Amino acid sequence: MYDLIIIGAGAAGMTASIYASRYKINHLIFGETPGGQGMEALQVENYPGYVSIPGPELMQKMIEQVKHYGVEIKQEKVGGLSKIENGFEIKTNKEKYQAKTLILAMGASFRHLNIPGEDKFLGKGVSYCASCDAPLFKEKNVAIIGGGNAAVTGAIHVAAFAKKVFIIHRRDQYRAEPAWVEKMKKIDKIEEVLSNEVKEIKGEEKVEEAVLANPYQGNQSLKVDGVFIEVGQVPSSALAKQLGIELDERSYVKVNPGMGTNVPGVFAAGDLAAIQGGLLFRQFVTATSDGARAAASVYQYLHQGAAPAPSWSKKS
Ligand code: NAP
Repeated sequence: MYDLIIIGAGAAGMTASIYASRYKINHLIFGETPGGQGMEALQVENYPGYVSIPGPELMQKMIEQVKHYGVEIKQEKVGGLSKIENGFEIKTNKEKYQAKTLILAMGASFRHLNIPGEDKFLGKGVSYCASCDAPLFKEKNVAIIGGGNAAVTGAIHVAAFAKKVFIIHRRDQYRAEPAWVEKMKKIDKIEEVLSNEVKEIKGEEKVEEAVLANPYQGNQSLKVDGVFIEVGQVPSSALAKQLGIELDERSYVKVNPGMGTNVPGVFAAGDLAAIQGGLLFRQFVTATSDGARAAASVYQYLHQGAAPAPSWSKKS
């Protein structure tokens, strides 16, 4: 029986592992794709210590730090969670494991628009990852849907390859950081289509057209070869439900300020977790902070309330 199993090897899970190692908590970490969503961030410019660093490079440094403490990242798919005496059992596609505590850090998956053509043209012009697929659209016309950091940084990246990029956002104000919006506005080949939505993606074999809800410059659709859908994420909370963990109305795992869930011994961190009463803020720094807090709370739980560091408040 391990003291702790961490499910998810993104920024939150890996930070939890680094802290757990330093607290001498005997643990395992599972992650099918080590690095998680961070592997898709083009350039990170708000993680202290780096003026600018590609997401995969930042995640690789975290992976190395986890391994530095002798922890193996198990690339197995976790399919089941159950309560056993004095702990929990997790089933993967290969084996069963047991632990006294869990940190859930499964993150989130891409939100879909659920419009006609979206599924049909997946991989045939429709993509959820501008940072991965941009080179496929060299000298092509492309639409990016969304107004957050992923859409705006995605538009900047795709513009380095494509002939023309339309960024289509449902409001006239971006959610993305102003610094990114400013950078995007300086690129001539990016055209903003604001207060508009794509209601259908059309084509024969591949994407040919994005049909708009409102006419744009007299046209009801844009002729494009690719559509990047970058409209945020939905929390990957299916496993949490198996343990009877409380979710909020948006399906995030409800946690207290110490990252504890309603099930004693189970903690959650990163994009999956929502601190009740707090701002829903999704950043590398908030994910890493959540992971550190969760590991500290696990220490406290395993040692009957003892604080892992003098500054640790027993209240949370
Ligand atoms: P996000 O910040 O939640 O933005 C999602 C965008 O999609 C919003 O503009 C939203 O519109 C729009 N949207 C949502 N549902 C829609 C729908 N059904 N139809 C049309 N538009 C829809 O998500 P994100 O951009 O994927 O970013 C997720 C988190 O990762 C954020 O915290 C972000 O800061 C972070 N991130 C950081 C970087 C970086 O720093 N390099 C890069 C990528 C992501 P409204 O604005 O109208 O709600």
